[in-house]
Amino acid sequence: MISANAALHGSYDYSEVARSVLIAIAASYGALNLTGRVTTASGRVRLPWLSGGAVAMGIGIWAMHLKAMLAFQLPVSVAYHWPTTLVAFLVAILASAIALFFASRQKMGRLEAVTGSIFMGAGIAGLHYLLMAAMRLPATIGYSPLLVACSILLAVLFSLIALLLAFGLREETRWTIQRRAGSAIVMGTAISAMHYTGMAAASFFPSSPPDLSHAVNVSPVANNGIAIVTLIVILAAVMTSSVDRRASVEIQRLNKDLERRVAERTRQLEAVNQKLRNEIAERERAEEGVRRSEDRLRLVIDTLPALVWSKLPDGSADFLNQRFREYTGLSVDEGLGWGWMRKAFHPEDQTEEEWRAAFAAGQPFEKEARMRRADGAYRWFMHRAVPLRDELGNVVKWYGITTDIEERKRSETALQEARDRLAHVTRTHAMGELAAAIAHEINQPLTAIVTNANFSLRQLISSSPNLAELQTAITEIVNDGTRASAVISRIRALLMKGALSRVQVDINEIVEDVISLLRNELTRNRVNLRTELASNLPRVLGDSVQLQQVLINLIMNAIEAIRFSAEHSGRLVIRSGRSADGVWVQVQDYGPGIEPELAELVFEPFFTTKVEGIGMGLSISRSIIESHGGQLSLVSSRQGALFEFVLTVATND
Ligand code: ADP
Repeated sequence: MISANAALHGSYDYSEVARSVLIAIAASYGALNLTGRVTTASGRVRLPWLSGGAVAMGIGIWAMHLKAMLAFQLPVSVAYHWPTTLVAFLVAILASAIALFFASRQKMGRLEAVTGSIFMGAGIAGLHYLLMAAMRLPATIGYSPLLVACSILLAVLFSLIALLLAFGLREETRWTIQRRAGSAIVMGTAISAMHYTGMAAASFFPSSPPDLSHAVNVSPVANNGIAIVTLIVILAAVMTSSVDRRASVEIQRLNKDLERRVAERTRQLEAVNQKLRNEIAERERAEEGVRRSEDRLRLVIDTLPALVWSKLPDGSADFLNQRFREYTGLSVDEGLGWGWMRKAFHPEDQTEEEWRAAFAAGQPFEKEARMRRADGAYRWFMHRAVPLRDELGNVVKWYGITTDIEERKRSETALQEARDRLAHVTRTHAMGELAAAIAHEINQPLTAIVTNANFSLRQLISSSPNLAELQTAITEIVNDGTRASAVISRIRALLMKGALSRVQVDINEIVEDVISLLRNELTRNRVNLRTELASNLPRVLGDSVQLQQVLINLIMNAIEAIRFSAEHSGRLVIRSGRSADGVWVQVQDYGPGIEPELAELVFEPFFTTKVEGIGMGLSISRSIIESHGGQLSLVSSRQGALFEFVLTVATND
C-alpha cells in the first residue's frame, strides 16, 4: 500500500538518460549545421530550408524530452495523452523555427539575441511542461516553483548560448568538425540539464487512476523506434545540409574562380585596350605631325625664292608653286599641262620637241630659255629637271627648279664684249711693238723701189738707155711693190677687228706668215729660230688672222723670255705635226721657263709677271683656240717653256 501523502519515488534508467543526451547532442549538431544552410539560402529556397530544419530540430528536441521522460521510471504505469504530446511536438518545431530564424539573420544584436532566446527558451520549457502535462498516471504532479523558475531560466540561458554558438559558427566555410561537434555537445548537454532541472521540480503524489482517454502507453519498441526515427531524420538533415554545403562551397569556389578569371581577363582586356588607345593616340599624333610637316613643306615650297614645279613623265606640269604662278601671271589651269611653255616662254625658245626629247631621255637635264614676266618683260632662266624613279627605274615624276639667270647672261655678254675689246687692244698693242719691224719690212722694198726707180729714170733720160737693165729694174720695182703691199694687207688684216671667218687654212702657211712678220723682231733680239714643220699637214677650219694672233702672242712671249734670260742662248723652235684627230703646233723657247705651280695661272686673265705686261695674251689665245674647238696648254719640258695648241682637222678637207 502506498501512502497517499508520500511522493512517489522515481528512478532513472541511466542508459535511457545517456541516449536522451545523445539525441540532444545530435539534434544540436543538426541545428548548427542547418543554421548555416538557412543563412546561405536566399529567396525561394530559404523557406524550405527553414521549415525542414525546424522540423528536424523539433523532432530532435521533442524526442530528446520524450526519451528523457521515459528514462524516468515511477512505480506506477505511465501513459501519455497523445494530443498534448502532439501539441508539444508542434511547440518544439515552432521553437526550433524561431531559433533558426534568429540565428540565421545577417546581424544579431543584443536585443535580437535576448528576444530569440526568450522565445526559444519559452518554447523548450513549454515543450517540457506540455509533455509533463501529457503524462497520465495514478498520481498528481506537484511543482517546486523555484526549480520550475530555475528550469525556465536555464532554458532561456541555454537558448541564448545555443543562439550565440549557432550564430558564431554559421559561416560554414570556416567551420571545423571539432568546433561544430564541441558546440553540439555543449548545447545538447545544456538542453538535457534544463530538462532534468525541470524534472527535479516535479514531485508525484499518488492519487486516483487517471482518465486514460486518448492516452497511449509507450512501449519499449515504440521508445526505441522514436529514437531511431529521430536519429535518422537528424542524420538525413545533416547529410542533406552537408551535401548542399559542399555543393555550395564548390559553387562558391567555382564562382570565385570564375570571378578571378573574369577579373584577370578584364585586366588583360583593359591592358590591350589601353595599348590600343595608346597606339591610336600615337598614330593620331604621327598623322598630325605628317599633316603639319606637309603644310610646312608646302609653305616652304610656295614661298621659296625660286620657281618650283613638278611634271609628269612626259613633261606636262602637274604642279607649279605660287612663285611660279605669280612670276608668270599664269593661273593654275593655264600653267598646267604644257601651258608653262606655250604661254610663258619666249616664242624663239618654245622648242617643244627638244623639251619632249629631254624628258623622254629620262636623265637629269638643264636648259636655258627666256620666260615672260607678268608685266610682259622677258628674262633668261635656267630650267633644271631631275627625275624621280620607281623601283623598276621608270620615271614617275620630274621635279625641277627654274632660276633667273638674266644677270649672269648679261654679265657673260658684257664679259665677252670686254674680251673682244681687249683682244683688239692687245692686237694693237702687239702691232705697236711690231711697228719698227713693219717699217723695216716696208722700208726695205720702198728703198729698193726708190733706188730702182731712180736708176730707171736715169736710163730713160740717157742717150743710150740699157733696155735690159731697165727691164730688170722695173721688174724689181713691181716685185718690191707687191711685197710691200702684201705686208700692208697682212698688217691691216691683223689690226682690223672684223668678223670671224672659218675657212680651211694651212697651219704651216700661217706659221710662215707670222715668222716673216716678226723676222725683224727676232733678229733684233738675236733669236736663233728653228722651224720643224711637218709636210703634207691636213687643213684645219679656222680664222687665219686669229690663229696668227695666237702665234704672235706665243712667239712674242718667247722673245721676251729669251731677252730677260741670263743665258741669252736665244733658241726658239716652232714645230708642227699631225696627231690622231688633229694638227698640233708647238712654240718652245729655252728661256727661264714657268714654275709648275704657275702652269694654269698663266692662262688666267690679267696674270702677268712683267712690268709692262697686261696679262691677257695667254688668256685670249686660249679662248681663241677653244673657240676653234681645240686646246692650248703649257707642256712640261726640261728646259724653257713649251706651249702647244691642237686644232681639229677640217672634216670636209
Ligand atoms: P703678258 O705677256 O702681258 O704678261 P701673257 O698672258 O701673255 O701676258 O703672259 C702671262 C704670263 O705668263 C707672263 O707674264 C709670264 O710670266 C708668263 N709667260 C708667258 N709665256 C712665257 C714664256 N715663254 N716663258 C716664261 N714665262 C712666260
